This record gives sequence, structure tokens and C-alpha cells, in this order.
Amino acid sequence: MQAMANLSPMMQQYFEIKKQNPNTILFFRLGDFYEMFYDDAKLASKELDLTLTGRDCGQEERAPMCGVPFHSYESYVARLVAKGYKVAICEQMEDPASAKGLVKRDIVRVITPGTVLESSMLDETRNNYICSLCVEGAEAGICFADISTGELHATTLSGGDLSEKLKNELARFSPREILINPNVLGFSELPKFIRERLSASMELLDHEDFEKEICSSLVLQHFHEENLEALDLSGKENIVRALGALFCYLKQTQRTGIERINTIDLYTGKQFMHLDLNTRRNLELLETMRNKEKRGSLLWVLDKTRTAMGKRLIRNWIEQPLLSPAQISRRLNAVQELVDDPILRGGISEQLTGIHDLERLMSRIVYGSANGRELRSLSSAAARLPGLKNMLKEVKSNLLAEIYQDIDVLDDISQLIERSIVEDPPFSIREGGIIKPGYNEELDLLKGDMSDGRGIIAQIEAQERERTGIPKLKVGYNRVFGYYIEISNSYKNQAPPEYIRKQTLTNCERFITPQLKELEGKILGAHDKSVQLEFQLFDAIRKEVAAQLTRVQKTAHAVARLDVLASFAQVSADNHYVRPIVNLDGKLILKESRHPVVEALLDAPFVPNDVMLDKNENRVAIITGPNMAGKSTYMRQVALIVIMAQIGCFVPASYAEIGITDSIFTRVGASDDLASGQSTFMVEMSEVADILKNATPNSLLILDEIGRGTSTFDGMSIARAVLEYVADKKLLGAKTLFATHYHELTELEELVDGVKNYNIAVKKRGDDITFLRRIVRGGADDSFGIEVAKLAGVPEKIVNRAKQVLAELESGQEVSMPKKRGRRSTQDEQEEIQLSITPPNEAEVLDRLRRLDVNTLTPIECMNTLFELTALA
Ligand code: ADP
Repeated sequence: MQAMANLSPMMQQYFEIKKQNPNTILFFRLGDFYEMFYDDAKLASKELDLTLTGRDCGQEERAPMCGVPFHSYESYVARLVAKGYKVAICEQMEDPASAKGLVKRDIVRVITPGTVLESSMLDETRNNYICSLCVEGAEAGICFADISTGELHATTLSGGDLSEKLKNELARFSPREILINPNVLGFSELPKFIRERLSASMELLDHEDFEKEICSSLVLQHFHEENLEALDLSGKENIVRALGALFCYLKQTQRTGIERINTIDLYTGKQFMHLDLNTRRNLELLETMRNKEKRGSLLWVLDKTRTAMGKRLIRNWIEQPLLSPAQISRRLNAVQELVDDPILRGGISEQLTGIHDLERLMSRIVYGSANGRELRSLSSAAARLPGLKNMLKEVKSNLLAEIYQDIDVLDDISQLIERSIVEDPPFSIREGGIIKPGYNEELDLLKGDMSDGRGIIAQIEAQERERTGIPKLKVGYNRVFGYYIEISNSYKNQAPPEYIRKQTLTNCERFITPQLKELEGKILGAHDKSVQLEFQLFDAIRKEVAAQLTRVQKTAHAVARLDVLASFAQVSADNHYVRPIVNLDGKLILKESRHPVVEALLDAPFVPNDVMLDKNENRVAIITGPNMAGKSTYMRQVALIVIMAQIGCFVPASYAEIGITDSIFTRVGASDDLASGQSTFMVEMSEVADILKNATPNSLLILDEIGRGTSTFDGMSIARAVLEYVADKKLLGAKTLFATHYHELTELEELVDGVKNYNIAVKKRGDDITFLRRIVRGGADDSFGIEVAKLAGVPEKIVNRAKQVLAELESGQEVSMPKKRGRRSTQDEQEEIQLSITPPNEAEVLDRLRRLDVNTLTPIECMNTLFELTALA
């Protein structure tokens, strides 16, 4: 730290402020720039590619400095925040022109990844959550707030594998920033998970920040309540502690109130289908596993929403399928009504288009950071509401009727804004030009004075030209001298004596006159006053709008729900989905069902298939069939259809009965953890263990190739034991789709109650096979591995050799070795010589092999890669 004594007063001020905001990059406002100094400057210049300069600071060495223009600071802050830094914004708290001595400066906000409000830094299709997590013993209080929309969700997690539960919950909300109490560090793998899997920044707070009494008074104060019962928080100590720490942190960083968060959604796991982290990823609900892209996910198929609010809500709905048949039916009834009425549906989506992000606009209005343009956006969004509401006047379903009730057309708000704010307001709210004429009398008078003055000044030019006889005399204005009279050099001697010389330029002289100065005083005075007044008026309008928060919020939520329901209806109608019949007896019957995503991606027609699972005779389906036949597509399709039904959407089938499913578990393919050093088999087994611990008789299990990661006999024994366990009603008895290579397991149909064999049919003609993609009863009689290898382009020679080995194995013989080198025919030898002399494309094949990351490839991709490689070889 620099010795303070010699520092210039401004740098002393800088250090004072910096001291109070450690661990942040300090943006220090100096006129038209935000400057950074010392280590901040070095860091920011590197991260933002800014030139590092220096500034005199009173000491011998200049202080390292870099800066960004104040009007474009957002993009710089965005880049720093995206990298996980916190940025403290320090403003000049008084006008430098009128300040006596050092300008007062203070922090107005600390921008952190979880507290961003600027639309330029936010993805409108996603919530931006900040999480607070308080672990105490075997229980955790956890809350997620999105201060840009005002949402606040909280719950308690306990029992079982708490660390696993925390990971699931964190991954579901995917917060950008996580506040933790020191106990969280007891779960040694959580910090790594937070940093690496969630790419979130983690803030370790002190025990005191989570202190019970302080936290509960903070919470009560925030919600203006007397006691925790009123908030339904009594006895939920860890939630209260997490909330208290969160509010305290938000107050410190935001500096303004956080009134935007005015309700708390206390949820329990019991409301929604349980989908663990693996399952959500495996089923590619929101993004694909491989590229993390929306295209190829369920969201991609279902999302036809028109508003940012709808886009955020549809994500939440997809990840939280409902469990209550009544609630599901409410959504389905609404979707049905919209499916049946294309005119209503079309009208709604037309009205929805162009409704701006009411939630986030409102946040900026409430926090006092919205400008004139944002108020205009709010009013133009509001202007669409009467039309939208009108469309819903005669709806019949309960949910749509409720939405109709909840939509407030907000006409008072739009009228106020229309009346007061000009159509195309400037970005800045401190430079005037925002308020419409006719809105405020005093402002109109001031503006009148200004324009009168300007009119007179214009007249002065003509008048003085005539009086002095100088034809090119001009009246001009600049910020340093104000108004002046300019005379070119050739006439300067003719300037009248009362002209006061102010400035000499190369080819002209500038003068002022008392008359000009007097007028200038009037104009500038009126200008300053009007700018000031415009700001005050704007601020008052903004506050008036802010006071309507609850109404706007309710409307925004109604619009979001309508948007999602209309999207479901649109997709259902476009893709010929059918309304599922939701039942409680556990039957899962699908006729001609399709995979919603594969169907949308595939050029060729998708082959529909039936599904029959129940709690009795058909609990477990063993599915056999060659690789690439369509086993995993089929199994995922069943899981996705159950999810679609329980979020209230129609499903891709010609008939669907869906028994309410409390959880879906999947065990498929390779997992990311492979790269973390755990063996494939270890990961597989721990996932299986987890599933067996958590599944209930009302769960749906998707088990793909259990036991594959170890030797055949080990693998088969494990697969069989798992199968017997899940099928057994006394042990688990969950509905299960079980794909396996072990044909031996099909004998279980005879031995275990509730097990049925299915296979995906292939047609064999000679050595060639065709995939029929049809699921049929019975086990597959052959695995066709060699035929699939041939289909994939494995060279003829290898295919023939494989056939030979197989034949020998099947007849119980010892496998004979291929003929020895010496005994080879000359033709063979020649072939080999040719191969080794001119290995075609060997370098490329080798290169591609080296670059291949097998851990991240799906089996299909492996096949495709093999195919490409063999084509090269
Ligand atoms: P498996 O799990 O048996 O190895 P997949 O389910 O991965 O096979 O299916 C392989 C490919 O077959 C998929 O990528 C898909 O394009 C196609 N496919 C699967 N099922 C069908 C179907 N019912 N109709 C059309 N194509 C399908």
C-alpha cells in the first residue's frame, strides 16, 4: 500500500474508497471516464485490452492507470463480470463544476455476476440467479433470487446424500453466484462442482453473516412483517439464515433497496417430479449433452414462445414436471382450448409478439436505473395488453380464465408515460430532452425562455451585421466562452469599441458584448433549470410507475404463462401431438409414439412405436436388439413423453395414457466424470447405486446397458441382479426400460414376475441387415454385431475374420489363429506389402485418432467416426 502522506487528495480519496471495497475492481469516475488505478489497472488492462498509462498521484512514480469512457462502461463491466470479477462503480456525487475543493465520490453499486441488472449483460431467455446456501448439520437452507425479475425461491434440503441433493438443486437453477457459509466447505467436492460444472463464482461468507437473530430480523424487515409465521418461515431456520445473508449481501452490493423482491416462493421437492442432474442432462431437456446447444433439446422443440418472460418460464416448466393430476389437467385444458381454436391461438401469439420484458424493465424502474427509453418500452408493451386481454374474454378453461383475470391492462401507466415522455428519448436522463411539452407548465415556461433567448440571439446576428456593416459577422457558441461574435481577420479592425475581445484564432477574432452575456445568462440559466427539472419530473414518473410493481408483476406472470401455454398448443397442433390421459394407477400406454426431438431432426420418416408399462404384468421391459437399432431412442422417447405430459403439453403419439410418475432416473452412456479420473465402471455403478436408493414404485427407470463397463460375466451378473431388484414388487417394482446386450437375460421373462421381453426388429437378408425400428415382443435372436460392423464400413477382411471367430466360439471350439505369415499366399503378401508401402491416408487417420476424445463420444458418434475412418483407410 502506498504511503498516504504524499498522495494527492484525490488519490487519498481513491484509497479510502478502495479500502472499503476490497476484492472488487474499482471503476473510479473522473469526468467522462471511469479510471482504474494500480493493481486494478494492471488487471483490467490485461483482461480488457486497454492501454496502461500513468497518472500523477503526488508521489515520485506515476500511478498505473487505465480507463473506459463512462457512456460505454457497460460492455467493459460485462466482460469483467463474465469472467467472475466484481466491479464497484464509484460516481461523482456532485457536479464538478460547482463543487468546492475535491469532488465528493461514493460507490453507487457493486456489480457481481449474480446481481447484474443491465439488459446488455443478461440473457433474456434465462434467469440470472444468485444463490445463498446455509448448511447446518444434515440440513441445508437454500434460496435462489433473481434480482432482475424479482423472483425468490427457497427450500430446505435434508437427509440422504445431502451433497448430491445440493448439486442437483444448484444445477437446476444454475446460479451465477453462490454465497456459502463455512460449513459448506465440509462437502469437499462442492466448491469444485460450483466452479467447474456450474462455472459460478463462489463467495465464502463468515459464520456471523448467517447468524440466526440478525438474519431473521433482516428478513422480517425486508418483508415488513412482525414474525416469521406470517412468512411461513417459522421453524425453517436455515432458510431464514440463507435469506438473511443474501439480503445483507444484496444491500451491500446494490446500495439501493431491494424492494423488487417482494414475495417468497417456498417450494418443496414434493410438488415436482424428481429429475436428478444426470437425468436432466441425459434426456437433453434444455441443451444437448455434447455441444450444450439448445438445438436438439426438448426445449428446442417446445419453445415457440414470443416473449422473454415466456422463454424463462418454459425452461422452469420443462425442468419441473408437475405431480398433481389436477394441476396437470388445468394446463392440459388450457392447451386443449388453444389447440382447438387456431384463430385464438394465432391472435394471442400475434399480440404477445412485441411485449417487452416487463419483469426486467420493472426491476430497472424500481431500482431507479431505467432511462426514458425503458419507460417507453414499458408503455409500448402495456399498449398491447388491452388487445391481448380482449382475446381472452370468452375463454372457458380455468387457467386461461385466471390469466384473463390476472392481466391488468395497465392503461394508467401507459397513459402517464405517453403523456410525459417524448417518443424517442435520449439515453441519458441527466441532459434533458425527455419530457414532452405540455406535461409540466414550469418546464414549458423555462423552455419558452430558452427558445426566446435563442431567437433573440439569432436576431442579434442580423442586427449586428447591419449595424457594423461586416457581412460575415457570425454569432456562435462554445462551452468555454458561451455565446460570442466572430469576425474574420479582414474585418477585425471594424469591430465596434463596445465589443470585448475574448479569443484570437488564426483567421478570426471572437468577441463578447454585455447584451450577449445577459441573454446567455438567461438561456443557460433556463437550460440548467430545465435539465434539472426534467430529471426531477422523470424521476417522479419513474417512482409513480415503480409503485405499481405488484400489478405489473402479476401481469408479467400471466403473460409468461399464456406465452408458454400458447407455445405448447402451437407445437402440439403443428406436430400432431395428442392429449395424454393422466391417471393415478400407474399405467403407461402409448400408441404410435415418437421421439419429439429425433422426429424433428430426422429427414426420413420416424417409425412410431407402442409402449405398455404398468404396475403389474408389465413392470419391466427388457429390450434387446443390435447397436443402432433404436433402443436408446425408444427409451428416451418414453421418458420425454412422460415429462411432456406432466408439464401439461400434448405428446407425440396417437394415444397416450400416462400414470403420474414421481421421478425419472436414467443410466445411459458415458458421463463427463470420466475425465475426472473415475473409471467408467465406477461412475456407472455409483449412478446405479444412486438410482436404486432413490427410486420408488412410482418412478420410471431408463437403464441402458448396465454392466457394460466390466467383463462379460461380471457385467451380466450385475445386470441380472439389478433387473431382479427393480422388478421385485417387494423391493422396488418400478416401471423400467432395460436395454441390454446380454441376450441371456431374456430368460428372466419366464422367471421373474412383471418382466417382458421386447426387441427392436431388424431384417436380415444374407449378410445384410435393415433396421426396421419397430419394437416387437420377444427377445432378439441375434445380436447382429458383425452385420452392424459391416454396415458401418468395417473392412470385409475383418468382418470375415470376426465371423470365423464367432462360429468357432459358438460351436465351443478354441479359436484358431489366422494363417501364419510364412504360409500366406503370394497374393496376400502382395496386398500387405502394398498396404505398408503406400498406406492410404494413414497420416490423416492417425491424426484424427489422436485428436479423438473418446470420453465425450456417444456410441452413435463412435460408429460414425469409425465409419469415416474406415472410409479413409
Ligand atoms: P441403439 O440405442 O439401439 O444403439 P439408437 O437409439 O441410438 O440405437 O438409434 C440409432 C439411430 O437410429 C438414431 O440416431 C436415429 O436416427 C435412428 N432411429 C432410432 N429410432 C428410430 C425410429 N423409431 N424411427 C426412425 N429412426 C430411428
